[in-house]
Amino acid sequence: MRVRFWGVRGSIASPGPKTLRYGGNTSCVAVESDAGDLIVLDAGSGFCPLGDALMKGSFGKGQGNMTLLLSHTHLDHIIGFPFAPPVHIRGNHFTIYGPAASREGLEELHEGLVAPAYSPVYTLDNIGSTLDFRRIPDEPFVAGGVQITAQRFPHGVGVFSWGFKLTERGRSLIYVPDVEYQYRHGVVSNEPTESIHSLDEAVAFVRDADLLIHDAYFTLHDYVPGWGHCRTQHAVTLAEAGNIKHLILFHHAPDRSDEEIDALIADHRDDLYHRGAPLRLDAAYEGMTIQL
Ligand SMILES: [Zn+2]
Repeated sequence: MRVRFWGVRGSIASPGPKTLRYGGNTSCVAVESDAGDLIVLDAGSGFCPLGDALMKGSFGKGQGNMTLLLSHTHLDHIIGFPFAPPVHIRGNHFTIYGPAASREGLEELHEGLVAPAYSPVYTLDNIGSTLDFRRIPDEPFVAGGVQITAQRFPHGVGVFSWGFKLTERGRSLIYVPDVEYQYRHGVVSNEPTESIHSLDEAVAFVRDADLLIHDAYFTLHDYVPGWGHCRTQHAVTLAEAGNIKHLILFHHAPDRSDEEIDALIADHRDDLYHRGAPLRLDAAYEGMTIQL
């Protein structure tokens, strides 16, 4: 599998001089399988530059095929979809897996996203490509020769976000973009019982993966309980407990500057080095490419 990052921010796009190197677009990661199929993780604003790049290939000719996996439907994970050029080309085909009670529910949500109050698209009927909406199955499924396992993670009070495990030819990557572990603070949670709750429970899902792409929204110093995100230390702890080879800190806070991300990574690498820990750690940036 070949992984490329097109959007690495959380919450809202944050272009500007402070975010030039890591990038300001929201969540979007493209995975090209060894068999040449395209699986995309989330459609935040990074989905638009991905779409521009895809127009140079089969998507520009109306012969493109994509499997899109939506972790959840917060705006920073879906906002790019209506604005990406390949979506408007007749003949292209998008299979969209997302969280919803039903297939129709997911389609309705996207219908709302393009409604006249929010966009000039007006209705999904104006979109030229074929959109095949599907509810994320509870059982593992296969797309483009890649085995996909989905798992719910807690994302603030009463909300969950799906994490995905992609496996092909014995290589695996895990994508957990939005998670806040063990948020209780006296609030009665209505997370579904099938959801992971704690870091300990998450270890079994991520164990022995080659690559873990994980939420890194907060540091120890700026953590806001209930916002639905963990601290970077949680990602490191999980990666080490799960015997991960390579951890990518992802979904950076919109106001985290390039220099602040550099410093954060340096601190974590120092800590790993001094403990003799073998974990490889990087921060996601737009254009980062990893061959698995
Ligand atoms: Zn998010």
